[in-house]
Amino acid sequence: PLDHPFHNEPDTDWSLSANVEWIRDKVEAMKAGEVERIPLQVGGQFEQGADETEVADPSRPGAPAYSHGLADSTGVQEALDCAVAAGAAWDARGIDERSQVLAAVAVELAEVRGEAVAAMVMDAGKSVMEGDVEVSEAVDFANYYARSLKDPGWFDGSDMEPVGVVVVTPPWNFPFAIPCGSVLAPLAAGCTVILKPAPETVLSAWVMVNALWSAGIPKEVLQFVPCPDNEIGRSLVTDPRVGAVVLTGAYETARMFLSWKTDMRLLAETSGKNALIVSAAADPDLAVKDLVRSAFGHAGQKCSAASLGIIEAEVYDDPDFRRRLKDAAESLKVGPSWSYDCMVTPVVRPPGEELHRALTTLDAGESWLLEPRMIDGNPCLWSPGIKLGVEPDSWFRRTECFGPVLGLVRARDLDHAMAIQNDSEFGLTGGIHSLDPAEVDEWRERVEVGNAYINRPITGAIVQRQPFGGWKRSSFGPGAKAGGPNYVAQFGRWRDASEPQ
Ligand code: GLU
Repeated sequence: PLDHPFHNEPDTDWSLSANVEWIRDKVEAMKAGEVERIPLQVGGQFEQGADETEVADPSRPGAPAYSHGLADSTGVQEALDCAVAAGAAWDARGIDERSQVLAAVAVELAEVRGEAVAAMVMDAGKSVMEGDVEVSEAVDFANYYARSLKDPGWFDGSDMEPVGVVVVTPPWNFPFAIPCGSVLAPLAAGCTVILKPAPETVLSAWVMVNALWSAGIPKEVLQFVPCPDNEIGRSLVTDPRVGAVVLTGAYETARMFLSWKTDMRLLAETSGKNALIVSAAADPDLAVKDLVRSAFGHAGQKCSAASLGIIEAEVYDDPDFRRRLKDAAESLKVGPSWSYDCMVTPVVRPPGEELHRALTTLDAGESWLLEPRMIDGNPCLWSPGIKLGVEPDSWFRRTECFGPVLGLVRARDLDHAMAIQNDSEFGLTGGIHSLDPAEVDEWRERVEVGNAYINRPITGAIVQRQPFGGWKRSSFGPGAKAGGPNYVAQFGRWRDASEPQ
């Protein structure tokens, strides 16, 4: 399978009723299933764990969906011992053999698509469609990283050794694709990996690791170690035997990790406060469609989501544009993740302080174009909100809220819009809608983000086509992007030896 060039895995075609029936059955089976207890997997063995915790389904808060074991400090030490001991044999398999295993992983991931989507519906509150896209992305990571170190140019005169044990701490918002890509890249480089899944989405990660083990990744080489976010988790990421830590999460978490261990080799994709500019030269219908999709897909819980629309005055002041935007957002169906046609599904947990403020409070100069409402008495389920009059220096402009709220900022002209967009401590994604090529060219040279999108939504990066990663406080580490060249090579130490010529 490695003989042919990389291609992206297609998503499920939901226009076929057979596919809709198929996923309905998978989701119903998962919903009706017994409350499962997910074990830890340490040292090649499954264990109950020293402690246990329950995880709720955000579409049915209060009812535990499943429970899982938690490692104590002894379990963490055992996992680290095992990861060190298993390192030499995995490295010795060589790049060719590991690439073959990753190719087999891609096949296995595609096999478990239905179970994976159902798990994400259940623990992440993801819609079927959003979950399906993640499975395709996971397959892409496997196929892409399988080929990453096969380029002969890499090895001219250089030796690569793996950095050693890698600890992966992924997020709950992409609970399948991100942990998958984050473990496969170091595995391809010959590292052994300890995955500490996000507490909210252990089930989705469990479906993923089982696929990897079935495809031939040894259990000692990839261990599954849920553990509490206290001194036990800290002992895992700061252990001197750990060669690198991969984090996707908040900027503050990355800072905290580095405060614990200043010389940590940390590869992190962190926060964003992303904006989409609508110029006076935009097609307003397209701009509305892409604003709504970028802001409210997965209820706005993407690092890549549009949280701000920076709108040129002529468009901002046009009542027709506002009406169209409001209508588009209002027409999105809001409901539990398992109802097949809902685009706005629950947020993963009842809003914390910041999201609550964003959903319920206006600051000076702001008003609601569309006021969010809690739906069906579920504290996790909110209809989309759109704020007018967000000031360039306001709380909302500066704060990543991770929920279904879009703020509109009025810009005097395009130059002003670009200045507002770049005046951010983050630089993950950004977009512009404009049909004027000169404007687009200027924007693309000035915008300070890692993923810049023109006349399209600003979420949904695709492996190889849009390697993903940001500037400024949106990333830590050498800056190679996930799903792009050099990502795997970061998990190597490179030796270049010379003799006189
Ligand atoms: N890669 C995802 C996208 O392009 C976002 C990942 C994240 O939220 O961390 O939409």
